[in-house]
Amino acid sequence: MLPNELRSQIIAVVGPERSLDSDNDRFTYSYDGSFVPLVPAHLPDLTVFPLNVDEVAKVVRLCNEHGVPLVPRGAGSGRTGGSIPVKGGVVLSLERMNRILEIDRKNMMALVEPGVRTIDLCKAVEAVGLFYPPDPSSWTVSTMGGNIAENAGGARAVKYGVTKDYVMGLEVVLADGTVITTGGKAVKNVTGYDLTHLFVGSEGTLGVVTKILVRLISKPEAKKTLLLMFATVDDASECVSDMLSSGIVPASAEIMDKTSIQAVARFRKVDIPAEAEAALLIDIDGPQKLLDDQAVAVAETGRRHHAVQIREAGTAAEADELWVLRRTMGPAVAAIAKNKIGEDISVPRAALPEMIRRLGEIGKKHGLTIAVFGHAGDGNLHPSILTDLSRPGARERVDEAVAEVFRAALDVGGTLSGEHGIGITKKPFIEEALGKGGVEALRAVKRALDPKGILNPGKIFE
Ligand SMILES: Cc1cc2nc3c(=O)[nH]c(=O)nc-3n(C[C@H](O)[C@H](O)[C@H](O)COP(=O)(O)OP(=O)(O)OC[C@H]3O[C@@H](n4cnc5c(N)ncnc54)[C@H](O)[C@@H]3O)c2cc1C
Repeated sequence: MLPNELRSQIIAVVGPERSLDSDNDRFTYSYDGSFVPLVPAHLPDLTVFPLNVDEVAKVVRLCNEHGVPLVPRGAGSGRTGGSIPVKGGVVLSLERMNRILEIDRKNMMALVEPGVRTIDLCKAVEAVGLFYPPDPSSWTVSTMGGNIAENAGGARAVKYGVTKDYVMGLEVVLADGTVITTGGKAVKNVTGYDLTHLFVGSEGTLGVVTKILVRLISKPEAKKTLLLMFATVDDASECVSDMLSSGIVPASAEIMDKTSIQAVARFRKVDIPAEAEAALLIDIDGPQKLLDDQAVAVAETGRRHHAVQIREAGTAAEADELWVLRRTMGPAVAAIAKNKIGEDISVPRAALPEMIRRLGEIGKKHGLTIAVFGHAGDGNLHPSILTDLSRPGARERVDEAVAEVFRAALDVGGTLSGEHGIGITKKPFIEEALGKGGVEALRAVKRALDPKGILNPGKIFE
């Protein structure tokens, strides 16, 4: 419970019109895009919406002085419960700090506030011929601050990398309210520890990000989209490996299993050959004159791996139509069962067929359907467990299956998360992934930067 005097002091910083604490508002800021049950609810005591770094620093300082938890929040689209205030306290929503402050065309960089939506940055830089590649599927809602905190990735990661590959510098409010600036526009920079990348992926536990400097690249001249159908998932994943090792680096290489494809086919007309068990959606981009040859090479690789259907989009509209399959996959898969528990694991590319096989075995063992789709080009899969959690024993079966999914990922040399972070949902497994010493090293960093443990407590590790 927030002491009344502290509540009034915090409200005085941002003003009552940017402070919420009614029962309804507290509930609104108690959950995110994860699959964490809503009961019991994790209600914040107060949610505030600062407009600038001074307000952020004042609120953080007050919370630190009184040892009150403070949870930074972007759009709340996180998949691992990162912005859920599990210990109550103050939710600090950055959503109104949403200005693109600069697009520096000469240096090819952009400076933004943390509440800028990913898609808005992408569109703004594309309008001047530049390109910001990280494209999480949630980009129409997710914020740049959330992307930094989770080191978000997307379909284009196979060729262009993830958020960390573009962050040049940050402005961060530390737990005691000190404001620091890391990195900068100098491309080469070895001045002290690389604090910029310490904050990337730190899930709001080390500081509140208030400005973000990202590098941009030139917008690719042209793009082509191909959809390949295969009679086995193995053929599809082998095809991606073959493509990459023969020097074709697609901008995206998305894999989808039969359950996932059929889920979309329930509400959209999709041309699926009867024998298709898997699909690969491939984007290639670059200079127009090279694309036709690359498209031929992609199709040939597909044929070498027994593709049963190959479609190449002739126009941008046709490409969009092929991408509908992947873009609507999450909701479509969710619609075929009462509950969908979507996960995020990342394995070495060569282990993809083995991982997909193990997912099938885990599903069979627990009597659960597991739909599999994800970013095959970088080994990042999203297995989705489909079930009815109201059935007796279903929750326990799902929990066991999820634990086995994580262990299988570790076993084949992979990791707990490719892009969604650890938050609260994967916290029980972090020691298996990093070892005792590894987790203790994380704790040492946390203690050094946030000795009172006020920043997003209860996340990543206890
Ligand atoms: C349908 C759907 C599809 C998705 N697809 C993808 C995908 O393709 N790739 C991907 O990577 N993710 C994906 N996600 C997950 C999610 O969108 C990302 O993790 C995103 O980066 C979260 O951004 P957000 O603004 O919603 O952050 P929130 O959910 O509000 O917060 C996420 C974490 O960031 C911290 N945080 C937020 N802002 C700040 C800040 N300014 N300073 C410090 N910490 C901060 C929070 O405390 C929390 O720990 C998807 C989610 C959904 C619902």
